[in-house]
Amino acid sequence: KKLTDSRAVYNLRYSSKLSYSDDTPEVLKFYSDTPWDLGDKYPALTEQDYNRFISKKALKREPALTRQITTLAYKVGKQVISLAEGMPNEDMFPFSRLKLQFKAGGELKLEGKELATALQYMPSQGYPALISELRDFQRSVHRAPGARDVLVTNGAQHGIYQCVDMLLDPGDPVILSEFSYTGVISVLRPYDPEIISIPEDDNGMSSETLEAILESRLARGLKMPKVMYVVPTGSNPTGLIIPEERKKQLYELACRYDFLIIEDDPYMFLNYSGERTPSFLSLDVCGRVLRLDSTSKCLSAGLRTGWLTAPHALVARAELHSQAELLHPATLSQAIILHLISDRSELATHMIRVRSFYRLRRDALQHALRELSGLAHWTSPRAGMFFWMRVDGVDDVYNMVFHRAFERGLMLVPGHAFMYDTSLPCPYLRLTFSKIPEQDMELAAKQLAAIIREEQKF
Ligand code: PMP
Repeated sequence: KKLTDSRAVYNLRYSSKLSYSDDTPEVLKFYSDTPWDLGDKYPALTEQDYNRFISKKALKREPALTRQITTLAYKVGKQVISLAEGMPNEDMFPFSRLKLQFKAGGELKLEGKELATALQYMPSQGYPALISELRDFQRSVHRAPGARDVLVTNGAQHGIYQCVDMLLDPGDPVILSEFSYTGVISVLRPYDPEIISIPEDDNGMSSETLEAILESRLARGLKMPKVMYVVPTGSNPTGLIIPEERKKQLYELACRYDFLIIEDDPYMFLNYSGERTPSFLSLDVCGRVLRLDSTSKCLSAGLRTGWLTAPHALVARAELHSQAELLHPATLSQAIILHLISDRSELATHMIRVRSFYRLRRDALQHALRELSGLAHWTSPRAGMFFWMRVDGVDDVYNMVFHRAFERGLMLVPGHAFMYDTSLPCPYLRLTFSKIPEQDMELAAKQLAAIIREEQKF
């Protein structure tokens, strides 16, 4: 097969084999024990179907022959004489050993061939050992109802950018919740999209409103959205969790109105509700979910590592983007992450520890915020790192945040940061409890109360 046909290479390493291990620790389970059956109302998308979602720009991407050769080099599995790969010789890198000590005990030691590999160029999809671990990890964590492939990204933010670039043409409509993660807004702006903004209730994006809007667009012959972006656990900024039932309703709308779902879930392990919530990926019976994972919140933000999990046709497209954009994410980060996720029981223990740490901090801030009763409305977030607070009697918090609060040395994020149209007034604040020392929380709450009182008088 001609090497420029990307599938010639992908087929070498992609297996649709589904196997589930039964020893996944509870904290790593993001699927329901009773698999969802949508019946045969909506057929699963085929490889050809995905073409209609791909942007004009992404359709123009061609595999780079040299990158294909790098991938092949990892695949042949026997010694070859290579005059092909344009790689530097690792012997000339100035490192002999890397040692990382873990807080929980144990260490990661890279030397010799392993270190040389971790310092070398890689296939664009990712470090092959990590790719194979991630395929297994995603299968046991989500149990997606069909074959999925993975692509390593430089964190979820990079994944968002790759997905948007792959799916959106300028001016296309996109479904977002009314207040959405700043990072997705920054990615979207240059595409000048038509934002279909959906309000949230306690269970996240309102499926009823979304259905009404889509039905009315259809009736009026308006362009239909190809994609919805959603943060299902501890939404940034609103702190909500989308429960299973709501996810199913939104997913059915995706099938009925033919759009894909970008599930951005960096706070998956910071769920304080005590309930297991299946991911969109675990419900993805028709192959409509592009799931983004991130190591930032619980393992390390600076390693800049995450991964996209999606049907193979979409992962292959995103990989072409990686080929052009960065060749591949940093190998050293991938080698570290590989080590961290391959011991599932150690990982589970760590995640439980992280979750308890943030739950205590959330509770401490909730306690401190009693100072604000009668001045603002909020609920203690069920997941994530943020309180979303509506200030009473203040229509727009912008000046309050940037003048009154800053002058007193209190930093806050105004809700405008999460709106596509920042010129609109916004009475919301986002408060983060992840890093502020507990002893400062009481003081911060007192200051905020005083600032709101002043602003209300103003
Ligand atoms: N998505 C959401 C919802 C986030 O809150 C963040 C971090 N602020 C990101 C993505 C970016 O994550 P990463 O560090 O993996 O790029």
